[in-house]
Amino acid sequence: MKEPIHPSELDPKERITGFKEVISGYREDQAVEEARRCLQCKNPLCIQGCPVGIDIKKFIAHIQRGKFLRAYEIIKEKNRFPSICGRVCPAEYQCRRACVLSGKHAPYASARAIQIHFLERFAGDYGLRHAGGRASSRLPRDGRRVAIVGSGPAGVCCAGELARAGVTPVLYEALHLPGGVLRYGIPEFRLPRDVLRQEIDTILSAGGEVIPNVLVGRTCALDELREQYDAVFLGVGAGTPSFLGIPGEQLGNVYSANEYLTRVNLMQAHHFPEYHTPIHVPARAVVIGGGNTAMDAARVALRLQAAQGMKPEVTVVYRRTEEEMPCRRLELLHAQEEGVKFKFLTQPVEFQGDAQGRVRGLRAVECRLGEKDASGRRRPVPQPDRPLQIECDGAVIAIGLRPNQVLTRLTPQLKLNSRGEIEVDSQTMATSLAGVFAGGDIAGGEGTVIEAMGMAKKAARGILHFLSGKNSS
Ligand SMILES: Cc1cc2nc3c(=O)[nH]c(=O)nc-3n(C[C@H](O)[C@H](O)[C@H](O)COP(=O)(O)OP(=O)(O)OC[C@H]3O[C@@H](n4cnc5c(N)ncnc54)[C@H](O)[C@@H]3O)c2cc1C
Repeated sequence: MKEPIHPSELDPKERITGFKEVISGYREDQAVEEARRCLQCKNPLCIQGCPVGIDIKKFIAHIQRGKFLRAYEIIKEKNRFPSICGRVCPAEYQCRRACVLSGKHAPYASARAIQIHFLERFAGDYGLRHAGGRASSRLPRDGRRVAIVGSGPAGVCCAGELARAGVTPVLYEALHLPGGVLRYGIPEFRLPRDVLRQEIDTILSAGGEVIPNVLVGRTCALDELREQYDAVFLGVGAGTPSFLGIPGEQLGNVYSANEYLTRVNLMQAHHFPEYHTPIHVPARAVVIGGGNTAMDAARVALRLQAAQGMKPEVTVVYRRTEEEMPCRRLELLHAQEEGVKFKFLTQPVEFQGDAQGRVRGLRAVECRLGEKDASGRRRPVPQPDRPLQIECDGAVIAIGLRPNQVLTRLTPQLKLNSRGEIEVDSQTMATSLAGVFAGGDIAGGEGTVIEAMGMAKKAARGILHFLSGKNSS
């Protein structure tokens, strides 16, 4: 069996000097060679591992034969963002983990599994380059209009599905640019902004417009949209940060990851004062958490330090071990290569400040691993008799996100579950309000891009069914 083909990557020393994309895509010959490692299984388990059921076997077979545009079209039948998902999907927990070459018992895919995500990215980028994303002639409209609240992957995907069916989607976005987390959360070195822009443009080219700077619930009420449109889709995401609830969290230079990443990715704080948003660049930064958000924050922090000519010093503090970290393995590897330090089995207890109210240190305790919890991972058990002291002058808290509450708080008629997510019918994604549907993180809890898109597709089918009933009544 041939060894997996790895695309080239920037040298870690060069990476931290800027925000250039770390991984280059496959060349055509590399893509064909990697595709030829695929066994074309009779019963392709990889497809079951994909949350939207891309026909992985078939698209890889076309890459094997050099039919790259056909491969692109096959992916697009199920996934509207191949260039994005090929870059950010946690494939090692999904399709690659199910690949027969991965072996049976690994918690995530082994290195031998087919590099499905890199092949998807290759086909996606090829499609954008050679077919302008295809899709693109505006389809005839039938007069029906649907308001989409939020322009993250859920909102944009739902808009695309509706536009293809002749319905006009109008997206309302609170921020000045569309994309949701893809824009303000995931940094450019993982997802270049021209790729994001092209993917969104391709989808909306079939019909649809984005109205930025509108916070639905405040700028206008949900009921107004219900009156003006035939239906409404809510894709407002999980933008509310969770906090540790420990003393000192309100000190200066302690950021939530959402604020920290938004300042840089959306507001370009690293180009202050050319751009108006400032950001504190500490000499010693700590990042609390073990997910993709924590890895993104840590790697951004390194780059900001390097840009200021400082010696990069960023420590990720996590209560479990490397094994239990929920982040993509590649992000962890890249963070390690770039020089991020890790303090595992460490539970923060208190941020300590100076006389000016700025953070100066983190008091913590060691943990040991106990029994498995509901997530299937071993629970961290703090050891109060094993104190730790971590010096820092800046901190980012990246321990998870909760549903965005702006709209739901101001719309009490919407039924929520105990976690504050919008309650939906699992088949149609209909909410408790007639004609209002929801999907993505606001309905499913903090998840992944592909899961958000899967829910949005389901909601689009629910909306079309609802509209057909409206027409015939
Ligand atoms: C830093 C970070 C890194 C991540 N990395 C990955 C990864 O590598 N791979 C992966 O698969 N997933 C990753 N995720 C998770 C993934 O990005 C989310 O699951 C996905 O973006 C959810 O999509 P969504 O459309 O539901 O919500 P979002 O992407 O959050 O988009 C919601 C949009 O709604 C807008 N909005 C909110 N309220 C209103 C309102 N009242 N009116 C108008 N607009 C509103 C917001 O401004 C936002 O643009 C990451 C998440 C974060 C935070």
